[in-house]
Amino acid sequence: MKKINFTLILVLIITLFGTSCEKPFNIFSVEDDIQFGLQFDQEIKTNGNFVILDEGQYQEAYNMLNQFTTKLLATGKVEYANKFHWKVRIIKDDATVNAFAVPGGYLYFYTGLIKTLDNEAQFVGVIAHEMAHVARRHSTSQLTKAYGIDLMLSMLIGNNKNEWVKIAAQLASGLAELKFSRNDEFEADKYAVIYTYPTEWDARGVAKFFEKMDSQSVTPVFLSTHPADKDRISAVNKEWNSLGGKQGEYFENRYIQFINALP
Ligand SMILES: [Zn+2]
Repeated sequence: MKKINFTLILVLIITLFGTSCEKPFNIFSVEDDIQFGLQFDQEIKTNGNFVILDEGQYQEAYNMLNQFTTKLLATGKVEYANKFHWKVRIIKDDATVNAFAVPGGYLYFYTGLIKTLDNEAQFVGVIAHEMAHVARRHSTSQLTKAYGIDLMLSMLIGNNKNEWVKIAAQLASGLAELKFSRNDEFEADKYAVIYTYPTEWDARGVAKFFEKMDSQSVTPVFLSTHPADKDRISAVNKEWNSLGGKQGEYFENRYIQFINALP
């Protein structure tokens, strides 16, 4: 009952201010994010469209990947660092240069992306960027945009599990895609710098990743609708400068070890 009242108040807020708000209002609770992430992850593991590398079989690769995320989460800069699940999975697909994140802290990286990059700093930049989409809760506001407030509300009020499963299935099969706005992308880049800055890695990793993609004329699926790379690179460098311009490590050799731990 309490939740319904709260939701109704939110509807009023959305109706009154929705069009003038720069940022779409997020009607999901943090628990909804986690619930959705769990369902999406279940779907992606079972729907047969993805080969997820087994954690037991590829323990070394997963240990390294988990170290990357653990170090980012330990900075104290990532929102919901202790609340979201922060589960990472590697998708075996060398032909696809892609990564994506869903609410609740579920992050997926294709072997095609990992093998294209040269060093840890670039890859950690991508991880931090995806983490920022989750921690800044861009995904759930995109879900609301994609599916409409009415459906989202009916799902939240009615706790309509079937609808959750259906949407998770659509997203996991690629029938529906969460497209982030230009602002969300710039924000995710900015927070990637903020999250990485206290670590041993160079916090400009995400910009180095864009430079790498440019040099290869590769447009990863998840960058195709994004703002121009050169604008993003200069925004990343500006953020890095404003934090003090500390040079970090790139770890080329360690990154080769990581790639070698993959099939
Ligand atoms: Zn993004």
